[in-house]
Amino acid sequence: MRSKIVAGNWKMNLSEKEAKELCKEVNNMNIGSEIEVYIFPPMLYVSDCKALSSKVKVGAQNAYPKDSGAYTGEVSMWQLKEAGIDAVLIGHSERREYFGEDHSFLKQKLDSAIAHGITPFFCCGEPLEIRQNGTFLSYVKNQLEESVFHLSATEFEKVVLAYEPIWAIGTGQTATAEQAEEMHAAIRSWVEEKYGKELAGKTSVLYGGSCNPGNAQALFACENVDGGLIGGASLKAADFSVLVAER
Ligand code: 13P
Repeated sequence: MRSKIVAGNWKMNLSEKEAKELCKEVNNMNIGSEIEVYIFPPMLYVSDCKALSSKVKVGAQNAYPKDSGAYTGEVSMWQLKEAGIDAVLIGHSERREYFGEDHSFLKQKLDSAIAHGITPFFCCGEPLEIRQNGTFLSYVKNQLEESVFHLSATEFEKVVLAYEPIWAIGTGQTATAEQAEEMHAAIRSWVEEKYGKELAGKTSVLYGGSCNPGNAQALFACENVDGGLIGGASLKAADFSVLVAER
């Protein structure tokens, strides 16, 4: 009823040769018809990876919301679409933190991705202090309200959501299955409040944050966890293939 997805965010890693090799390995994995696999290579390798991919979808880790113009160093959603790219990450905590991307900029990116028919993977998630002070549900709800819930139902239908608690990203400290399920169920309930039960039931909500072959089974078994957005463990074919198989 909703897509099961395993996606690898390679971040700023791998040489060109390594990226092409890993891309081929991922395409050679045993991918069941019930799941979708995405890779998000560094921008420089996105087109090559797309050319090497058959069953795997290829996305960019970033893109600019204007179509063209004097924006030195940027690549637009429109250009990604021209290059046949399938998806884009929006709202990743690393871009929020290191590049100052705020709610309204993320909203523009989301609008541009949807306008160009690129699947947006919208990331949300709280920092450690918010987890510890107990306000994490309202924090994440606010992220969605500020950047996502302005979309119409037809637009929202195109969005994949990813819950990535910042304290779990790259730290080896994964959310427990209970913590993940609590947040994912809450996210689905907010989507239901806004867009209705049918659309909420169709929305894929992925978990990201130190997801690895040792913990994926428990996380993916949660009713409201529809797959994973994987960082470190997506860089090794042996690990990523376990995650693809677990899903
Ligand atoms: P890790 O799996 O390395 O914790 O990274 C998660 C992530 O940020 C995926 O976007």
